[in-house]
Amino acid sequence: MLGNCCSWVVMVDTPYSIYLHIPFCRIKCTYCAFNTYIGLDNLIEPFVAALCREIEILGMSKPGQPVGTVYLGGGTPSVLRPDQIGRILAAVRGVFDLSPDAEISMEANPGDLDPPYMMAIREQGINRVSIGMQSSNNNELELFGRRHNNDAVARSVAVTRQAGFNNLNLDLIYGFPHQTLDSWENSLRQMLRLEPEHVSLYALGLEDGTAMKAWVTRGYLPAPDDDLAADMYELASDLLDGAGYEQYEISNWAKPGYACRHNLQYWRNLPYPGLGPGAHGYADGIRYSTILSPHKYIQAMQRANGVFKFPLTPAADQSVRVDREAEITDTLLMGLRLTQEGINRAAFRERFGVDLPDLYPSLIEKYCGYGLMQVTEDRVCLTRQGRFLSSVVFREFV
Ligand code: SF4
Repeated sequence: MLGNCCSWVVMVDTPYSIYLHIPFCRIKCTYCAFNTYIGLDNLIEPFVAALCREIEILGMSKPGQPVGTVYLGGGTPSVLRPDQIGRILAAVRGVFDLSPDAEISMEANPGDLDPPYMMAIREQGINRVSIGMQSSNNNELELFGRRHNNDAVARSVAVTRQAGFNNLNLDLIYGFPHQTLDSWENSLRQMLRLEPEHVSLYALGLEDGTAMKAWVTRGYLPAPDDDLAADMYELASDLLDGAGYEQYEISNWAKPGYACRHNLQYWRNLPYPGLGPGAHGYADGIRYSTILSPHKYIQAMQRANGVFKFPLTPAADQSVRVDREAEITDTLLMGLRLTQEGINRAAFRERFGVDLPDLYPSLIEKYCGYGLMQVTEDRVCLTRQGRFLSSVVFREFV
């Protein structure tokens, strides 16, 4: 169905987004399957040197590439000192053309933030902070094994504001064992009182290797209830709509003008080199992941020499060339997550040389008929009902 065509390549002037994975945490949360490690603080300094080296190597293979966003995720980037964050951002500026209005985000743990720290990271260039609130109920935070309590979240938000940040995200989790609709509403209302510009709501996924999954498997905790999770999602949609937030992605809401530019890059299936141990990246037709172990990552970067083919560096572990068919599927599945923007038909045509409804006529017609999708002159997107059933729609397009 999808023949060869050379018009699908991403335009050369598309600014890239850079993801930097900081693999250290002070504790391992009971639901977390990210590539993070506790008890490795002695590696933080060599890791920062290795990450700066990886940035430098990546930049050598594409010097002066425009970059529009940088995201320090993890893990817990707030375990880094401000001067270490400054060195990492200086390395990015040293090899790439980092836009003066770049969005530079950093994830932070509520317990780590105090006024001097927040002021110092702002001076280093961080202009967007994402705080892992997760819940406002202390018993739920204990179930997650988190270090913070609800008061720490309010204090963190206050110091973030005092330091001058005006772009703040709060994360919440829903759909986990023992959570009730009332406790969820309490978390949402407490979060709204803190007036973040951006809100991310994540449905708990029971991931292999996590304590939470083991407890559910052994019967120590009840399995999550999907119907209740759907009710929680609907409640959240209503409360956030009523509070003036615009939903722009299945799990994300923002005040007007505060959609996360970095994450939009993912959902538009545009390039985002990923650096650091266990990072995932996609650029120049290659999707890849890097070495998981911080030890091995540091060693690889200490030994690194020469110029490599962008976007791969000596930290690359697995990589695959994305063919046109896979790129179309990725663009479709990620674009459908964008609840308002959906997939821009003109941009899709420019990238792939074909109109999206012509590629999947029967599937799109079927879901439009069910009221789950809509096709307008300029876009293809899910309806409100389609957002609630997005996993069903996505499955058929894979
Ligand atoms: S702080 Fe975040 S990255 Fe670290 S273990 Fe907890 S959820 Fe995972």
